[in-house]
Amino acid sequence: MNEFIGNPYYELFSKQYQNQFKIGKTNCKQRIKTLNKLKTAIEITYRNAIVEALSKDLGKPVVEAELTEIYAIIGDIKHAKKHLKQWMKTQRVPTPLSMLGSSSHVLFQPKGVCLIISPWNFPFNLTFGPLVSAIAAGNTAIIKPSEMTPNSSALMAKIVADVFDEDEVALVEGEVEASTALLKLPFNHIFFTGSTQVGKIVMTAAAKNLASVTLELGGKSPTIIDKTANIDKAAKKIMWAKFLNCGQICVSPDYVLIDKSIKAEFIESCKKWLHTYYNDNAKTSASYGRIVTDKHFERLESYIANAKTLDATFDVGGQTDSASKYMEPTLISNLKPEAQLLEEEIFGPILPIVTYNSLDMAITYVNSKPRPLALYIYSKSKRNTTKIINNTRAGGTCINNSVLHYANHNLPFGGVNNSGIGKSHGFDGFKAFSNARAVMKQHTFGVTELLFPPYSSFKEKLAR
Ligand code: NAD
Repeated sequence: MNEFIGNPYYELFSKQYQNQFKIGKTNCKQRIKTLNKLKTAIEITYRNAIVEALSKDLGKPVVEAELTEIYAIIGDIKHAKKHLKQWMKTQRVPTPLSMLGSSSHVLFQPKGVCLIISPWNFPFNLTFGPLVSAIAAGNTAIIKPSEMTPNSSALMAKIVADVFDEDEVALVEGEVEASTALLKLPFNHIFFTGSTQVGKIVMTAAAKNLASVTLELGGKSPTIIDKTANIDKAAKKIMWAKFLNCGQICVSPDYVLIDKSIKAEFIESCKKWLHTYYNDNAKTSASYGRIVTDKHFERLESYIANAKTLDATFDVGGQTDSASKYMEPTLISNLKPEAQLLEEEIFGPILPIVTYNSLDMAITYVNSKPRPLALYIYSKSKRNTTKIINNTRAGGTCINNSVLHYANHNLPFGGVNNSGIGKSHGFDGFKAFSNARAVMKQHTFGVTELLFPPYSSFKEKLAR
């Protein structure tokens, strides 16, 4: 450990390192008590402050703050409390006949000292969500939230200091330098949520100490709409999912792949639903958010400018206001393949619409890109749905809906390759923060002893 002296977070890390076995030995009741303290802080003590911080950082409407941040964490805690006893149980597994006289079981032990690095788009949910799993599994944790949402980060620091001792859970505020310094320390597990690009940096740093990682990353999540789909219902759900949090969601439908024959009807339905959700002007709607920072606003504006130079069709929107970081819900079609909007993760309120002539074409298009975090299918055809699922790879899928698979605690959540490594939520989150320790116990004479040296010809025959 001496090699880490001088790291600005060494002292904090050491405190947790020394405390990890005490925390790791806590039983189900004690962990639930800790989860309850966090629940009270979020549900009661700091509830209004959370809504206020989210409004300041992201212009997040109250309903979205309540549902996608507060309710989401409370839901995680309730689910963990309900199932923790079962999750913590020793799992008996069969032992082969050749090992007669012994029994085997799996123990889920805490990994130890964990690092949680979180992004800005759902600052509370994506920080406390993984923390719930870390606590349930009996770990200590150091948290590094995003610097992009300073009001939320400062409030989370206050909540963590209020609820936990720092040798159990601590929060470090700061920019990239803070992350870089933390990543040098020999954590037992690193849970990172953020971009694919930074995910690679995190994994490289983790490799130095051989820390295990869960990487919840991003990417371009396609939405395929086939000829059999209920177009109006698809538009209703996609317009909600795409413009929720201004499209700043890892599982946001990144682009639509639609059968050419139904494109016009789909766009008309989208216009109708956008009007229903945000009236004529989303800028004055209390239900619509804002882009997080000037940097991200400029990035999105450059995508729009690039689409314009490539003569794309703006079917809806395209208006922006840099002073308030407002970007109108925007639908763009007839994009050339080299358009930035079709190359980079959008993470904003712009939806490219790409047409196809056959389902095979749509599948080939999806497979020409890195494996996405989510893939959505709108179809009434079981055959088409199965064909898409069997011929593509993605972290998760919703059929005739978008985004909502994220909210089912019983489903593993996470990406694949470029969109992530490892799974979270519910039991999968508990397992991500646990080491499945294999234990075999010898009760009586073991048959394998018959084969111990010296090796006679009889033993040779037996072995064969
Ligand atoms: P980001 O990768 O820029 O930052 C995430 C965290 O990493 C922040 O705390 C940041 O301070 C830190 N960080 C940034 N650069 C770093 C570096 N060089 N070294 C070490 N740490 C660094 O991501 P973001 O902009 O905060 O979030 C948006 C991205 O996150 C999108 O790509 C989105 O798809 C993804 N995301 C994924 C999920 C998921 O569950 N899979 C959820 C939300 C967001």
